[in-house]
Amino acid sequence: MSGKQETHEFKTEIQQMLNLIINSLYSNRDIFLRELISNSSDAIDRLRFKAQTDAEILGDDTDFFIRITPDKEKKTLEITDNGIGMTRDEVMENIGTIAKSGTAAFMAALEKSKKEDALAPDLIGKFGVGFYSAFIVANKVTLTTKAAGSDTAVRWESKGDGSYTIEEVEKAGRGTTILLELKDLEEKADNDYTDEWAIRQTVKKHSDFVRYPILMEVDKTEPIPEAEQLKGTDGKPLSATRKVREDETLNSMKAIWTRPKSEIKEEEYKEFYKHISHDWNDPLSHIHVKLEGVVEYTMLLFVPEKAPFDFFTVERKHGIRLFSRRVFIMENCKDLIPEYLRFIKGVVDAMDLNLNVSREILQQDKMVRNIRKNIIKNVLNHLGEMDKETYEKFFDAFGMVLKEGIHSDFENKDKIADLVRYKTTKSGGKYVSLKEYMVNMKPDQEGIYYITGENIATLINSPHLEKLKDKAYEVLLMSDPIDEWVVQALTEYDKKPLISAEKGDLKIDDDKKKEEKTKDLNSLFEFIQSELHEKVKEVRSSTHLKDSVACLSSDEGEMSAYMEKIMKATGNVGPDAKRVLELNVDHPAVGKMKEMFESNKKDPKLKDYSQLLFDMAVIGEGGKIDNPSRFNKQVGELLTGAL
Ligand code: ADP
Repeated sequence: MSGKQETHEFKTEIQQMLNLIINSLYSNRDIFLRELISNSSDAIDRLRFKAQTDAEILGDDTDFFIRITPDKEKKTLEITDNGIGMTRDEVMENIGTIAKSGTAAFMAALEKSKKEDALAPDLIGKFGVGFYSAFIVANKVTLTTKAAGSDTAVRWESKGDGSYTIEEVEKAGRGTTILLELKDLEEKADNDYTDEWAIRQTVKKHSDFVRYPILMEVDKTEPIPEAEQLKGTDGKPLSATRKVREDETLNSMKAIWTRPKSEIKEEEYKEFYKHISHDWNDPLSHIHVKLEGVVEYTMLLFVPEKAPFDFFTVERKHGIRLFSRRVFIMENCKDLIPEYLRFIKGVVDAMDLNLNVSREILQQDKMVRNIRKNIIKNVLNHLGEMDKETYEKFFDAFGMVLKEGIHSDFENKDKIADLVRYKTTKSGGKYVSLKEYMVNMKPDQEGIYYITGENIATLINSPHLEKLKDKAYEVLLMSDPIDEWVVQALTEYDKKPLISAEKGDLKIDDDKKKEEKTKDLNSLFEFIQSELHEKVKEVRSSTHLKDSVACLSSDEGEMSAYMEKIMKATGNVGPDAKRVLELNVDHPAVGKMKEMFESNKKDPKLKDYSQLLFDMAVIGEGGKIDNPSRFNKQVGELLTGAL
């Protein structure tokens, strides 16, 4: 029963992406085979996971395999598995549309990089190419697949040229076959993928530890038994050997994590990482620990170097695989690792785990909880022991995620706080740890100052920091949205409080002096507040400013301007919170305004200047003013007066 063939167009950006993959990975084209083999291996894993609760699904097809079939004449290469297969919908979803949100993010970044001249290969490094890597070596890809338990099979076909077809077809067994019609490659030897030797090499190098046999039918020479030998006229055998076709298993199938560490080469770790993670970059580092005690288990975990594009948008895949005595239990076992360490990839192999675990049981399993605790401990220690350069690479990629832990993992809050890094007003663009910050604190400094906002450049020049800079106090510049949650949870570090440089009273001036200065200003402040009452709840003498005349602040316990912006961006729109307008009472403008106010409280200029002060404060924190043309006009008039 063959169904109607349908043709679908790839979206233009997908075409662009395919071209980019093909071009940037051409020199690395071997990887296509690893990607396809890894997909097959995952498909068998998934089938076995399903079979734990539905044994019928396997039928009598219980010998799992991945088969590679080259054809020199036709110049084709076929990769077949008897894994879980795909339904028509799954093919459309996984292979057909590429309309995953990660792709959208990728394309957006690509567009941006074009504008900024960034290197595409670096970009593509963050994108799991997976199945599409087939187009690096193939002119045409035909995928035929039959999902476990299904009666119908589907065929997907594309030349990677803008469209693909999909149709129902006949297929004998369960699983997936991918047929590649190979391109003419300009070099020979190790790049001819119909060559047995080349295939053997590639599999050995990239896929040796795949736990299912990777089979290839090869010519073998075997001795001909005496009785079957054809003899010549002289009575001697014409030939003592003959050629036979025989399956060869190309991989050792050895679980790398069970081998002693000292015997595993760095290269083998790297290849294993690529196999399980579907990342084609090397990992940044790995943790290989064997625990022997009440519970026995091995963990081989990897820290990736780059965050994939879809890291923040797509359901995370290829996390931690759970095994019990080398028997696969499940992929992406989320119970073994907290969300804030979700970048970690790897395997955990536990000795005595209940084999028929369901996800619900796992969560409550005492052993799983114990392993999880140990994973956290090992990962945090490992990150803490990295050299500075490696660690900062890691932090650039995943710091944002790790910081979530300060908010979500109370038990390990302090450990994670040791691991966070910030740029500061004094660090010249470099990262500083909280420990380093403490060392540089001034003797009279009350706490650790920080400011939150959207970008470092605006933060570093924020008027809120003038007084602090004057005192030579260092301020942490926090520009990740997650930092707002960090400072809610991390109220102190090493017994020093974290103090917002933006909110409330900085308490670094001596109170008496301050009182003296503001003594006569109260009625002017009240006047300005009443002029701005829709936006300003109070006008106050500033503890932040030294050179600027005005800034806005919130009270302690209130949302910062940045937090408000984040809330708005996530759709939480409340009424705009009124702010405090802080004025620098040492600034001559405030003095002049006071004189003006005292001589004629009805002077219309007072109204204008109140508005102007507010606008200047908004601009100072990188905000947008309501009425730029009014602002322009007012400044223009002032300028004319001054000139
Ligand atoms: P990734 O493997 O990183 O998810 P791919 O683009 O390689 O990305 O594959 C997309 C999806 O297609 C896979 O997640 C899987 O669901 C499905 N898939 C790919 N190859 C196979 C296969 N051989 N058998 C079953 N499903 C497959």
